[in-house]
Amino acid sequence: MSVQQLMIPAFDIAQLREITALVSASRHIAIIPHHKPDGDAMGAALALYNYFQNKNKKAVVITPGSYPGFLQWMKGNDAVLDFEKQPEKAKQALLDAQIIFCVDFNAPQRVEDLEKPLLGSKAKKVLLDHHLDPQTFCDYAFSFPEASSTCELVYHFIVQSGDRDRITKDIAECLYTGIMTDTGSFRFPSMSSDAHHIIAELMAAGASNHKIHELIFDNYSADRIRLVGYCISEKLVILKEFNTAYMSVTERELRSFNHATGDTEGIVNYGLGIKGIRMAAFFSERDGLIKISFRSKGDFSVEEIASKYFEGGGHKNAAGGKTEATMEKTIQRFLEILPEYKNELTAK
Ligand code: 5GP
Ligand code: MN
Repeated sequence: MSVQQLMIPAFDIAQLREITALVSASRHIAIIPHHKPDGDAMGAALALYNYFQNKNKKAVVITPGSYPGFLQWMKGNDAVLDFEKQPEKAKQALLDAQIIFCVDFNAPQRVEDLEKPLLGSKAKKVLLDHHLDPQTFCDYAFSFPEASSTCELVYHFIVQSGDRDRITKDIAECLYTGIMTDTGSFRFPSMSSDAHHIIAELMAAGASNHKIHELIFDNYSADRIRLVGYCISEKLVILKEFNTAYMSVTERELRSFNHATGDTEGIVNYGLGIKGIRMAAFFSERDGLIKISFRSKGDFSVEEIASKYFEGGGHKNAAGGKTEATMEKTIQRFLEILPEYKNELTAK
């Protein structure tokens, strides 16, 4: 029997000790996920929040803005501060903090308007992240791009801090959510056997797999389901010569489906579900910008396309970006760069 190599990220023990001491000495702890946080960002933030609360530390999660309704059930959600809705309170919380945990992002611009207050804060900053190319904006950086998710890293952070016993059902649910959502329900190559072991442990700690799957995936509005149907039937373009599929929706189209934050999440994956397709893109117009989601299969890196051409980044098989150009120009640009990647996209 072959033994799969273990890839458990080992934190620097000296740094971990310093952070534990800082946490102990802190009166206020702030935790920040990226803009439009997904399941991994919110799961990691709320897992840390619950962990610190249970250690009788005063913690607060500050999001740069809104996030999907299907993520609003995790323990601690009611105490989340939304910077867009309560900017003064959020700024004060950052000023009060002695330590700030930055979770699931690799560059300060990823928190949008929170960037200035974050960088301006005198608090010590700790990064927990798994995106490629992290920037140096934190005092301590735990960046492991090979990890399935930031939630996997938060699990190791807690365990390597000597607190495995402190993983309660609430924390287990948050961590399960992040690992599940960032691995496409445990199917991406980033899902290691280690991560499966962690999932088993989280279930043993009380996380219910079917309950969490239902809360995340069977919790959409009827409008969102209709939007998915519209995108697939009316907006899907397949470029066979590049093994690429894409869809686009304008702000007007989104409005006609009463769009809410999170409604477009995951639609890009339908393109990737087509036989032979290696790259899928989803363009959506929001607040005068075009936001792009990229997904790929195998060795083809959409991170390169996102970072090189669309002011973005992410991971090899899942990346995102944005542009101020019109929808038409953005798609035109995308079509123009495809020939550069034709060999990679069509190689046997
Ligand atoms: P999604 O397509 O689900 O929005 O994002 C896919 C991945 O790319 C996520 O890991 C996300 O953090 C990253 N990502 C999405 N948009 C951006 C962006 O504008 N800049 C960077 N650097 N990463 C992004
Ligand atoms: Mn993530």
